[in-house]
Amino acid sequence: MGLWVFYFLGETYLYYRGYIGFSFFINLTFALFLIVPIPRRLRSRRLFMGMRLVAAIIAAFLILWSETRFPSILRTVKLLSETGGVSNAYIVRFLKDSVNITQVGILALILSACIFLNKRIVLTPLAFAAILSVPLLAASVNPSDMNAYLNHFYDKESKRVVTFDRPGNNAPEFDIVILQVCSLAWDDLRMVGLDKDPFLRQFDVVFTDFNTVSPYTNPSGIRLLRADCGQERHDDLYQNGPKKCYTLDALREIGYKTYAAVDNYAPSYRFVEDIKTYGHADQPIEMRDLPLRQYDFDRSPIYDDLAILNRWWNMRQTSQAERVAFYMDITTMHAGAHWADDRAWWKRNPSVLYREFGVRLFSNLSTFFKTLEASGRNVVVIFVPEHGRALRGSSIQPPDIREIPLPSITNVPVGIKFIGKGISPIPMHQITVPGPTSYLALAYLIKSFLSAPRFDRESLLTPAIINKIPETAYVAEDRVNTVVKKDNKVFYCGKDKKWTVLPASALK
Ligand SMILES: [Zn+2]
Repeated sequence: MGLWVFYFLGETYLYYRGYIGFSFFINLTFALFLIVPIPRRLRSRRLFMGMRLVAAIIAAFLILWSETRFPSILRTVKLLSETGGVSNAYIVRFLKDSVNITQVGILALILSACIFLNKRIVLTPLAFAAILSVPLLAASVNPSDMNAYLNHFYDKESKRVVTFDRPGNNAPEFDIVILQVCSLAWDDLRMVGLDKDPFLRQFDVVFTDFNTVSPYTNPSGIRLLRADCGQERHDDLYQNGPKKCYTLDALREIGYKTYAAVDNYAPSYRFVEDIKTYGHADQPIEMRDLPLRQYDFDRSPIYDDLAILNRWWNMRQTSQAERVAFYMDITTMHAGAHWADDRAWWKRNPSVLYREFGVRLFSNLSTFFKTLEASGRNVVVIFVPEHGRALRGSSIQPPDIREIPLPSITNVPVGIKFIGKGISPIPMHQITVPGPTSYLALAYLIKSFLSAPRFDRESLLTPAIINKIPETAYVAEDRVNTVVKKDNKVFYCGKDKKWTVLPASALK
């Protein structure tokens, strides 16, 4: 087997460290294929050896790729072509961030040991020992248990629905502003020291264990806009769900005029089309004449969020509508986004850049809140990120990759803020919701605000309302990968459709 031993030793090492999966039968077959003797007397022995080497190199690459948590090769090509190709600068930075020097060093040590020993002893048994150790040491997860758990979960979720009641004649009027922010998780904020920023102190309610379910923009957008129903399966998002699920439809039904805005038309990932078709959002307000602030990873322009918010607010001020709901999507924190005039952005530390965007976002939103306060109108602001940025990455997924919806990516800071006459800009007592929650909790709170007799903190957030905030067990998923929290463990099911328990190193 020669130095192929290194392939198996390196592979099992990465498996035990939690970086990759391990296909036992495929590896065993591959190892046997490598040791099939080719008779010395065979005439075209060299040709056979050469052919086996080429086949082995291709097989080794395909096996290793299938064991990583990367999307399949075809899907990777498709993802890249869909985003209009990623800029070279972004690729250079991605490579720089994903390669872990310590692990490269350890693999180099294993390789040196193999080269040294290969001349002295037969290493083949070592390769087989490594391969055989995997099923012997593997913790088994019963797949039928997990599938039954998920079926039960979705069955229960499909029966949950929040219905808004038309407010009575004496009910206080208020507007609803929903701000959905891309790429902002607790984990990202902690990494750049913004998790305790005064910006977050302005909210009356903060959720500390809110699950966005999806690690990507479009499905999270659809999920938020269909918050009135329990959690849907990923594939069901791209079909017309029951009418009762659409939050904006439900608000229109009880007399709300609705608006939408984005800061990036995002042609490469068809965000506007998806939120209109599957979330029943309005056509976003025009922004092409507003100041351009950043470019996104796919070179699409990102317009100034404060300018867009102010434009909408002017529209609202001149509208005769008694009640208005506004949905806006903000993409300024996205990986690969950079200031419009920053040509060398990719040479800069991504965390420093991310922090700059965060500080600017928090400052712009605080300014917008002051504008709302000055108007004297009653407003409920709902701040809800789409998913994290994966700024830190984990042992099984490099930074900026979000194929696996790990808790560090889907656990985001959600806040609700009341603005109105007599309501101080910073609450005396901020209410923390520590339980596992998701979008349904937001629909539930909107419903309870609509039936409050007065628009003040005491009436909007009674202990009875707070105690009944609905919880949702942790199930996160995208097209291929599912992550479930159950019995204090985190289970993962990937493209191979096998359930495994994620090691603690993958969750740090
Ligand atoms: Zn996003």
